[in-house]
Order: sequence, then structure tokens, then C-alpha cells
Amino acid sequence: MSAQLPWTGLSEVEARERLKRQGPNALPEKRPEPLWRRFLRQFKSPLIYILLFALAVDFEVWWLEGRHGWPLESLVIGLILLLNAGLGTWQERKSEAALNKLKRLSSPLVWVERDGAWVQRPSRELVPGDLVRLEAGDRVPADVEVLEGSPLVDESVLTGESLPAEKEEGEELFSGTLLVRGKAFARVQRTGPESALGKLATLLGEIKAEPTPLEHDLHHFGNQVARWVLVLAGALVLLGLFTEGAGRLPQVFLFAVALAVAAVPEGLPAVLTLTLSLGVERMAARKAVVRKLSAVEALGSVTVIATDKTGTLTENRMEVRALDSPDPAQAQVALALANDADHGIGDPMDLALLHYLQRLGLDPEALRQQHPRLSERAFESGHKFQRVTVETPQGPVSYLKGAPEVLLGRSHLPAHEYQSWQEKALAYAAEGYRVLGAAWGSGETEENLQFLGLVLFWDPPRAEVPEAIRKAQEAGIRVLMVTGDHPATALSIAHQIGIPGERVITGSDLEKFSPQALLEAIREVNVFARVSPEHKLRLVELLQSSGEVVAMTGDGVNDAPALKRSDVGVAMGQRGSDVSREVADLVLLDDNFATIVAAIEEGRNIYENIQKFIRFLFSTNLSEVLVVAIGALAAALLNLRDATGALLLPLTAVQILWINLITDGLPAISLTLDKNPSVMQHPPRPPKAPLLDRVSLRFVLVSGSIKALCALGLLGLLPRLGYSLEATRSATFHFMAIGQLFFAYPARHTHLFPLPNPWLHGAVLLGMAVQLLVGMLPASTLALDLVPLPLLLWGVLLGTALLAWGLAELTSRIFWRNHRDLPYTRQATG
Ligand code: ADP
Ligand code: MG
Repeated sequence: MSAQLPWTGLSEVEARERLKRQGPNALPEKRPEPLWRRFLRQFKSPLIYILLFALAVDFEVWWLEGRHGWPLESLVIGLILLLNAGLGTWQERKSEAALNKLKRLSSPLVWVERDGAWVQRPSRELVPGDLVRLEAGDRVPADVEVLEGSPLVDESVLTGESLPAEKEEGEELFSGTLLVRGKAFARVQRTGPESALGKLATLLGEIKAEPTPLEHDLHHFGNQVARWVLVLAGALVLLGLFTEGAGRLPQVFLFAVALAVAAVPEGLPAVLTLTLSLGVERMAARKAVVRKLSAVEALGSVTVIATDKTGTLTENRMEVRALDSPDPAQAQVALALANDADHGIGDPMDLALLHYLQRLGLDPEALRQQHPRLSERAFESGHKFQRVTVETPQGPVSYLKGAPEVLLGRSHLPAHEYQSWQEKALAYAAEGYRVLGAAWGSGETEENLQFLGLVLFWDPPRAEVPEAIRKAQEAGIRVLMVTGDHPATALSIAHQIGIPGERVITGSDLEKFSPQALLEAIREVNVFARVSPEHKLRLVELLQSSGEVVAMTGDGVNDAPALKRSDVGVAMGQRGSDVSREVADLVLLDDNFATIVAAIEEGRNIYENIQKFIRFLFSTNLSEVLVVAIGALAAALLNLRDATGALLLPLTAVQILWINLITDGLPAISLTLDKNPSVMQHPPRPPKAPLLDRVSLRFVLVSGSIKALCALGLLGLLPRLGYSLEATRSATFHFMAIGQLFFAYPARHTHLFPLPNPWLHGAVLLGMAVQLLVGMLPASTLALDLVPLPLLLWGVLLGTALLAWGLAELTSRIFWRNHRDLPYTRQATG
């Protein structure tokens, strides 16, 4: 609109100047934890205590045995511990940085006037003196003075007072409070730390890095393992003391430690956090910003998406197609005055109306100046209309626009006219138009109105939506349309985009039906129309009580409860209110339904890959425990001892650590980069499904045993072929490491057939190169307690590793073949 406001904002140059002087409009950030403290924190875990203890025992043994050469084993354990802590620090910082970047992406934008034009800017760029426009749903971004408007403001954040208060011109709005209704032009007074919220220094809408349920489960699981390992190790120490005598206490300790190290997947926590944060970055690249890490897992098990129509399924580029009115002139006045858009900012429907009126040659701004507002009732999807009462020479007059049946119900009309308007509205809606009614009455009134006719809007579906819906349905996810619009409009759009069914449930049905009838109805109906935010909450609860995992979208101030209640609350980055974004788990930067489906695909992909590396790591641990335990038992029975008379263990603690952290690390990380395109051709995972499902568990047991058997075979056979005990043990170690590299392949093989992963090939090749190097370099052979092997023996152990790989691949294929569920469609057909 062309009309000028009586106030001016700042120029860009001036604003930049002030920003430099004043600092950003943000709360002072907490000082980041110093690196050294973060590094030390990495050592706070029962497992690391075990390793530190191992280091001490090792050193003690070296000391007692006369300090020959270097205490190599202790040094290596120390080095591995430092490396592990370094890796932990690095990945922690990386995932924090990723979350911080997301925080900036989903932080609110504010309409502000710069150089005479209205632009949207991140709220941290506001400076004192800025002219801003606030509307319902906005968090007040700084302390401001109201220049125009009488907004209703919820100040409970600051005062604890839960009743919203109306603010007049000249009054202050404080940063952090919430505009519940109305709009305002305002001048920024104080920003950042000087503002009311800055003084409180509580951060709103902060992205939290709480542990996700998955991390929590794994942590719990880890503690459980640690406890059992300690019990087992304790028992072994006692047994060892009994058979070996107190003189060998340190060696017995070393054995117990080796077993403990073998049982625990040391690399798991780091790989898990890395996967989640990489996944979150990938989602953000697809315009889905995750606000809580736990949403990543929840997304993977979503069974129902309940989505808004307007703006999410459709483009929200409203266009007025026709005005059906017996009194067009009066109807146009109503549409200009009962309208909150100005300066090209506002509700898309209001904006479309202004464009339409301007095309007809009207000047809405002049009309508004002739008819100052006396009072108003803002639009809310609860009551579905807007009233504006203005001054005229004949006294106050009220203009209303809103849902046709609501205004018809409030109009004074002969029965046949009422009937015919209703039929017209229905017919237009059935053609897919969004239909709006207009009415007026003298005085400040909302009853006994004169009905002014119907406006038809065209709001086409987004082009990418039908394909996204098909994809969701193929993935066993139902798509429900939940809209405030007319049932016939809703149904027409639903059919255009491929949501099946002929039945519609309305908001009043949700109130009328018995719980039993509702539960039955929601199983087969996909379209919900004329619903208010309270109905949305009801719907989420109903769906959840019938076992669904619900992703629900919402943009309004009142949608917060439904968003909170749903398993994945989805808010809009462009159109949504700040409140809805604050409670959401996921924010769509492009407001697009297709982005939800993309996020679900990423969520499933991440979960799938997590399962892969868990299978991979646990299968290593199992084989190590079996080899160490059975090998030690055999050594005891055969009385195999080293020069000092200590029992010969098949693998040393350092070797096991090497495999668990170095050999396992690279393939595990590259497994997180696996792409599983067919992940959307299967039904969602049941939300209560354990991390390791039955098939995976069986795979871990069988493949771990296969590898242990092969290793034990080498241990038993090689001495008979004339190899020394040292060579046999070295060959076993190399076999365990290289075999483990190969096992990354069967571990990723499920019914989903992932795409070839070049990173994984690279990781396996690199791992093999490192292993060969370790086997040949004198320094490392010493540290890892290895001897150089003849070429033939390398061939033998490589052949054994290939054999184990083949067997593991075979079992994995057999297990998954019986588990190949066919794609199916859960979408109710109505
Ligand atoms: P949705 O956005 O899902 O279409 P809403 O609850 O926002 O649902 O709108 C419900 C109905 O209220 C619309 O179909 C329309 O008839 C009416 N309506 C929507 N926006 C406005 C508005 N700004 N002023 C008056 N009536 C409106
Ligand atoms: Mg709406």
C-alpha cells in the first residue's frame, strides 16, 4: 500500500552503526566450557575408570618386573585413552555447533522498516529506534513503545500474571512477552541485555541438547554391561587367585581387564552422537530444522501425519477469483475495512483482498482513514470471523468477514435466501474454492447482520505435494488433512492431491460423537474440516490412544497445546507464530508438507544406520569375549605360559582396545553415511521396538560366534602347523582386526538393500593398510606385542577372514530373507 505512516524507521546505514555500538539484540551467551575441562570430562565414565585401572596395573607389572625397556603397553593404553577423549571432545563440539547453527536458522524474524521499506530481519539485528510491526503470535523481540494499535499481551513470562493485558498507545511492551491478539506498530527502546528479558537473563526458545531416548537407553545399557563386566571380572580375579596364587595377582588383573575391555563397545557413544548431529545437518539442508535431537528418532516411527491445508498443502498464494454479492459496493467496503493487512504485510487472504480491491480501482487506505476503527474482534480459528466497528456519519457500523455458515447464522435472512446462500457456498467449496462470507450491521454488533455475499479465493495445491503424499502412503504413513476451512473445500483439495475418502469429520462432530464412534471414525476418515485448535488437541489424543505416533502441524498461537502433545510437533518457519515454533520439535523452513516427508525419510535412514553400526560393534564385542574367555580357558588347561610363567592370553587388552577403537571406528562412522532409498517402502517401525530387533540380535550372536570359532581354529591349528605361539597370537590378532573390517558389509545388509557406500570401501581399505603397517613396523609391533609374520601366514589369516565374511554374509541373507515385509498402504480409503 502506498499510504505513509506518520513515523519513519531507521536507515540501513544508521541501523548498522547502532548495531555496532549497541551490540546484537540477544542475551549474552553463556561462556563456553573451556576446552581442558571438556577434555577432562571425557574421562568420567565407569569404563574409562576400568581402563585407567588397567593402565596402573600394567605399569605396576612393568615396575615389579624390573623396568626393562619402556612400559610400552601402559603407554599405548594411555595414548588410546587420550585419543578417545580427544575424539569425544571434538564430536561434542561438533554437535553443539550444529545445534547452534540450527538455533540461528529457526530464530524469529521481525518486520522492521529500513530506508522506508518494510523488511523481515532476524530479531538479533534490531537496534533502539527501529520501527517494528508486531502481530498476534509474535514474541515481543525487544522493549518497545506502542505507536499504534491496542494489542493484547501475555506478560506471564515476566510477571507471572496469566491474564493477558491490553496495551494502549504510548505504553511499553517488554521483550519476551507474547502478543496474543491484535497488532501494533512500535518503536524499539532497549535491546539485548538492557531489555526486560535481558535483565531476567532467561533464554526462551533455546534449543536443548538433552540426551535422546536412544542415547538414554544406550547409556543405561552401557552401565548395565559395565556392571556385569565388573561382577564377571571380580569373579575371574578370585578364580585366578585361587588357581594361580597370590603371586600372580597383577597378571590375573590384566586378564580380567582384557575381558572387560572386550565386552564394552568403547566407540559407540561417540559414533552415536556423531550420527545424530550429522543427520540433523542433513535434515536442515532439506529445510527441516530439528529443535530437539529426540525428534530424529520419533520421526522414524511416525505413523500419521496430521497436516494443515492452507499454506502447507497449498501454496497460500491466495487470489480472489470472484465476488458474489447483491450489493458489491457495500461488500467491497466490508472487505477493505475488516482487513488487517497493510504495507504489503499481513495474512495472505487479507493481502489478496486488498490487491483485488485495488484492481477494481478502490483505495482501501483512504477508506480506512475516512472510517477510523472504534473497536474490533480479531480473527481466530476458534470463532472463525473478524469484526471491525468503524465510525461513519450515521454512527458506528460493524463490518464482518469470516466463514460463510458462521456469518449466515448471525444474519437476518428469509429462510429461502439463507438456504440458497448455503447451497451456493457448498457448491463453490466443492469446486475447491476457499469461500469467505461478508456482512455488516449498524452499531457495535455481531448479530442480526445484513449478509453481503461470498468471496471466492483460489489457492492451488503445491506442485510437489501429491508425490510427497504418495511417498508417505507407500511408507505406511497415513496423511490426514486437518483444516479450519469448509468441508467441501477440504475434500476437493484432498482429492486433487491424492488423499482418499469421501467422508469428512467436522469440529462439531468431534464434540458430538461418542468416544466409541469417534475411534471408529478416525480409523477411516482422512479429512477433518472446520476444526479449531482445541479440536486438534482432541484429535491428537484420539489418534494416540489408538496407538498411532502422530506428527501434527500448527501455526497459530493456540496450536501450542496440540503441538506439544503430538509425538512430533511441526511448526512453520515462515507463516507460523513464535509460540508454535517454541514448542515444536521440527520447524519447516519452507512451510511445505513435502519437507515433513523428507524429514521422516531422514529420520528412518538415521535409525536404520544406527542399527547397522550397533550390530557391527556388538558382533565384534561378542567375538572378542568368546575368544578371550575360551582361549584363556584352553591356555589354562594346556598350561601355555610366557617366559615369566604367566598364562598366555589369546589377545591382550591393548590389542582389544585397538580393534574396538581404531579398527571399528572408521567403518562404524562410514556406516552412518549409508543411504537406504527403500527405507520409505516399508511400514514404520513400531515405537516400542527394541534397538536390536530379533533378526539383528540373531545376526550378532551367529556372526560373532562364527568369527570367534575361526579365531579359535587359528589358535588351535597354527601351532600344529609348526608356527610359534607368538606368531599364532599375532596372526589371531590380525585376523580379528581384518575380519572385523569385512563384517561391516554383512552388518549393513538388511531387507532394505542400501546403495553402495564409497566411504565404507575407503574405510575398509584404509583399515587394512593400517593393519598391515602395524604388523610390519617394529615400533608398533612392540607396542601391540606382535611379531612379524611370514607372507604365507598373512595369506592364511586373510583367507580365514574371507571365509568368516562369507559365512556372516550368508547368515545375514538367510535371516533377512524371511523378514522381507512387502510394501503396503495403510491410508484409509474412506
Ligand atoms: P485454515 O487455515 O486451516 O484454512 P482457519 O481456522 O485459519 O483454517 O480458517 C477457518 C476459516 O475461517 C476459513 O475457511 C475462512 O472462512 C475463515 N477465515 C480465515 N482467515 C480469516 C480472516 N483473516 N478473517 C476472517 N475469516 C477468516
Ligand atoms: Mg489459517
